[in-house]
Amino acid sequence: MHSQEPHTLPVTTLTGIGSQVAARLQKLGIITLQDLLFHLPLRYQDRSKITAIAQLQTGISALVCGIVEFTDTIQRGRPSIICRINDNSGLLSLRFFHFSAQQAKQLKPGTLLACFGEIRYGYTGLEMVHPEYKIVQNAKQIIETTLSPVYPLTEGVGQTLLRKIIKQALSLCLTVDNTLSDLIPNEVLNRHHFPSLKESLLTLHNPPTNLSIESLQDGQLPALKRLAFEEFLTHHLALLQGKLAYKQWQAPKLALDVNIKQDFINRLPFQLTTAQQRVIAEIESDCSQTHPMLRLVHGDVGSGKTVVAAIAALAAVSSGFQVAIMAPTELLAEQHLHNFRQWFAVNSIDIQFLTGQLKGKNRQSTLQALAEGSIQIIIGTHALFQDSVTFHNLGLIIIDEQHRFGVNQRLALREKGQQGDLRPHQLIMTATPIPRTLAMLQYSDLDMSKIDQLPPGRKPVTTSVIPSERRDEVIKRIENWVSQQRQAYWVCTLIEESELLQCEAAEKTATYLSHTLPNVKIGLVHGRMKANEKERVMQAFKQHECDLLVATTVIEVGVDVPNAGLMIIENPERLGLSQLHQLRGRVGRGNQESYCLLLYQSPLSFAGKQRLGIMKETNDGFIIAEKDLELRGPGEVMGTRQTGQIQFKIADLNRDSDLLDLIPAAAQAIYQQQAQVIPELVQRWLGSANKVNEGIAQS
Ligand code: ADP
Ligand code: MG
Repeated sequence: MHSQEPHTLPVTTLTGIGSQVAARLQKLGIITLQDLLFHLPLRYQDRSKITAIAQLQTGISALVCGIVEFTDTIQRGRPSIICRINDNSGLLSLRFFHFSAQQAKQLKPGTLLACFGEIRYGYTGLEMVHPEYKIVQNAKQIIETTLSPVYPLTEGVGQTLLRKIIKQALSLCLTVDNTLSDLIPNEVLNRHHFPSLKESLLTLHNPPTNLSIESLQDGQLPALKRLAFEEFLTHHLALLQGKLAYKQWQAPKLALDVNIKQDFINRLPFQLTTAQQRVIAEIESDCSQTHPMLRLVHGDVGSGKTVVAAIAALAAVSSGFQVAIMAPTELLAEQHLHNFRQWFAVNSIDIQFLTGQLKGKNRQSTLQALAEGSIQIIIGTHALFQDSVTFHNLGLIIIDEQHRFGVNQRLALREKGQQGDLRPHQLIMTATPIPRTLAMLQYSDLDMSKIDQLPPGRKPVTTSVIPSERRDEVIKRIENWVSQQRQAYWVCTLIEESELLQCEAAEKTATYLSHTLPNVKIGLVHGRMKANEKERVMQAFKQHECDLLVATTVIEVGVDVPNAGLMIIENPERLGLSQLHQLRGRVGRGNQESYCLLLYQSPLSFAGKQRLGIMKETNDGFIIAEKDLELRGPGEVMGTRQTGQIQFKIADLNRDSDLLDLIPAAAQAIYQQQAQVIPELVQRWLGSANKVNEGIAQS
């Protein structure tokens, strides 16, 4: 019977694990025996030989055996005991800060002591702090034949216990009764010279004697690579499955009347680009199906994604369904509100705003109107998807600047707005190019559209890299620029996530600049201001009631003031390239010349020079993303790009990035040969708490 297979049994099946230990193990994500098997060592210890004290090296753990010369209790400062041992090649001090009186007594002169720990250099020469130790009769007694695994621990679960129970689990699941099946087709394993699952797990938990500690720890062992490969593959398959599952739901048919659409387009102050028209057609075609759309629109900053979203929203509203638009910042949400109200003024559509700042009565009445259906378009931040928000008939969800949200956050939204069998269509927009390999782990559940064209007449932004010693020159330049009736941004950034410090820096800069530039009207916007205050400043800037906007990175996304064609970014060397590109995307929105000045703190590191050089060379978001990936590595890029980054048990995006290219072919092989194993793979790697998995479970 399936449920009796040993690897699916709870850890309490093992001897010595009661409910208390089981609860602690759960903190490590360990519930079943299978979870234990995939709890891999962080590193290994070599207790296969005794090292002579004279041969010890600092920073390395070693097994040492010697005779106690003396043990002394030290009361000064933090109480400790120090115990000196001698093995005829040299002297070593052992130091203990937590100890019992009995312990101190045990370590009496003449005792033969074996100890294991990391060597460091202390006051008294070579030292081990808190070594594991044992009083022995004979040195050989403590030598182990294999390298010992060191597992990640949690409070109340020590190394010895983990070693013991993992050993038990291995013997139950792999040796006695090998039910832990290899879910990857043999052909795929052979193609990449990967060992079987059983061999991989045994190698990593019980390394064979011929493997050196270095080869086990350098991350290149086939046994490890194979598991990382299986994990990546599973994440990819889970997204594909999630898509299939979601697409099985019913969705409202959203049809856009030709006249309504044409009327809207005619009223725009510009002509849609061919790329915009193509993407709109793709969206219209998806939304006219009875299954939900899951589409990602990727278009570089300034490519005109908002108007595409507006047409999709028009399709939903004119078919009688509600639309929810989620933006990552209040400022961007306010901008959208403003644009949509303007665009849809003649359509008499009720458009409202919902963010975390909306409180009390106003919030109540907005929530009620949403639930009753009198609000047709709601624009807001992630507050839109809190439990207290219910919709009357949500037909379309639009997520702007998706890269600011995590994968799991995005997947959680799928649950929102479901009514019986009906699920809303989803339109997801991003300006951040996703290199193909990463797209596989992040967006395999989405169909992709690309706005690969900027509106005509846009001139590339000219970027200069300037040391902060030339600040005065830059300030002069603003004066000059403003006298030509143009506007500018001054962006204050700080690396620390401290919003407070960033806002303070912006306030100081604004004060300083208003002293130095008395003829320039200066506005200030930062994250600590109230939403309506921010919006008032933004509108004033848009109306050209002020010339220079001093801002924090709150203006990174969405802000759109075409007459502002000069941007100064302070401390650009501290920002990621993609973030700089987004920020710079605030200028170059009209058809006039525009400039970006990167005002760095000297001296600039070599890497910093390289990175800013790229910004100077190109305006192409895709090239910038590729370079960013090259310079920082995929782990870093994915980590900072999203808040809820993907968690891997074993795989490491940087160490294992060479595996990513192998995934699509393997996924195809699984689909063709043994698609039935996918749920089991997902269970193994993602566990049942996963959103992706919930999607599958529901189908
Ligand atoms: P993003 O893709 O970065 O979200 P926006 O939707 O904010 O870009 O559009 C950037 C600017 O370009 C806005 O001022 C918008 O009105 C304008 N715009 C959009 N489409 C076109 C077009 N086809 N021709 C000219 N300007 C356009
Ligand atoms: Mg936008």
